[in-house]
Amino acid sequence: MAASALVLPPVTPPDYHRIISPSLNVPSDPQTSIPVGLLACQRDPLLRESATTVVSIRPAEAPPQPKRAKKDKSGTPPAPASPLLEILLHDTVLFPEGGGQPSDIGVLTSAEGHAWEVAEVKRAGGHAVHYVKVGEKSIEDALHAFAAGTKVSVQLGDAGLQRRLDHMCMHTSQHLLSAVLERRYQLDTLSWSLTAYPTPSYVEIPRAMSAEEIAAVQEECNRYVFEGRRVHVEVQELDADGKNYRTASKAIPDDYTGGVKRTVVIDGIDSNPCCGTHAPSLHNLQLFLLPHTDSLSRGTSGTSTSSARLYFLAGPRLITHLTSTHNFLTATSATLSCGGPQVPERVQQVVDERRRAVKRVEDVELELAGHVAQEMMLAPSVASASAAVAVLRRHRVDDSVNALAFLGAVATAFVSEAAARAHLVVLSSSPSAQTGTSTTVVLVFGSDDRRVKEIGDALKARLGVKGGGRVRGGVGSLRVCGRRPRRGRLSTRFWDFELRTPKSRTCTRDLYGMLAAY
Ligand SMILES: [Zn+2]
Repeated sequence: MAASALVLPPVTPPDYHRIISPSLNVPSDPQTSIPVGLLACQRDPLLRESATTVVSIRPAEAPPQPKRAKKDKSGTPPAPASPLLEILLHDTVLFPEGGGQPSDIGVLTSAEGHAWEVAEVKRAGGHAVHYVKVGEKSIEDALHAFAAGTKVSVQLGDAGLQRRLDHMCMHTSQHLLSAVLERRYQLDTLSWSLTAYPTPSYVEIPRAMSAEEIAAVQEECNRYVFEGRRVHVEVQELDADGKNYRTASKAIPDDYTGGVKRTVVIDGIDSNPCCGTHAPSLHNLQLFLLPHTDSLSRGTSGTSTSSARLYFLAGPRLITHLTSTHNFLTATSATLSCGGPQVPERVQQVVDERRRAVKRVEDVELELAGHVAQEMMLAPSVASASAAVAVLRRHRVDDSVNALAFLGAVATAFVSEAAARAHLVVLSSSPSAQTGTSTTVVLVFGSDDRRVKEIGDALKARLGVKGGGRVRGGVGSLRVCGRRPRRGRLSTRFWDFELRTPKSRTCTRDLYGMLAAY
């Protein structure tokens, strides 16, 4: 008989949430919204769904926009958001953003069994507002399905649960990490960021840390993880002067009106005010610290301070990071035909070989440029003393990524060979395969500034281009690189052009036609 296993969801221990003020109770009236600080997601962070009652509903006046709702790379602005509803529930398993922890996402199921997507939950004063997408349905349908007093079900759903588990693991790990940094090295946490999945999150600390210090912190954190230290939350009523309840890194938001203060305790390690959802124990958190810190300096109005970021991973995010890192390494080692441990050495070899190869190509090109220049000197128009000005053109087919540099080297070599011989030369270079994006490079130089300028101006006029710089027009684009410094004894001016197909051949032909007049 085949073995079967029943996977039971983990359950939050009953003593996780401890109300320590005798007069404080979780409101039970279903027409009352339970304040943030006492929500189901905060009392029982492993609860995935609960039945509750709608307290109020209204169309959202200003739907919340994602913080980074910028144009994408193609310049397309973000699509308009679907209409949203603002729904207040008696209680919820969905966490509104706070304490550095982003909002949950989830599902609201109406009494008729229809599921509506909760895009975001935000705290407004002391209450959690659910932003529910109207989607394909109408606002009227929504107002009917979620009328005040209606019984509904609120769930994390699969995507919401994955997101929450990640946030919970990272957030609880941050408490552990900050506590150990403070206890061991007196390093306060200045701020922290639960970055978007799956990138490493970080704590900001007053100074950089050595690899040895980081390893010691990681080792100590994981000892507590191995012990499975328990985590619980203590809740009490805010004092009248509750705003004094403040630490260096955490504070109750000024607009919070929920009336409770909440302290997250890791047994024997830490006690810190926080509204987030935290795992009931450190079991399975396995903290990984990136073995270096990034130094930051930030200055405001003349004062500057320095700090550093220490990056960390835990829980599902750590597994994702290990998987992607392993895949990168495997792909790279396959490309380099070596084992993973040999990758750094092989990459260094490839870089060194490439550097040597580039140097050799440069040397050979310089040598070749000299030969091309000498060959040009043998052309009848140059060799013959009868022509007052040696007029010459040469075209090359060259797939170099920097054909202009090679033409420049040829020009330099030619000028030094030509000595006092008056000359006007056009060099051009095209790739072997002409496509819509390939570039033909043209270099004009000569011993007479005026003639070089005439050629350059005529070509620009033919292309309808004014001034220099990269210009796009009906004939493709033209880049006028401008004048180069005078070289040698000769008064030599260089003009160079990059012509994009399909008109480059025509333009080059025009240019050669102009040359014939000289
Ligand atoms: Zn927290």
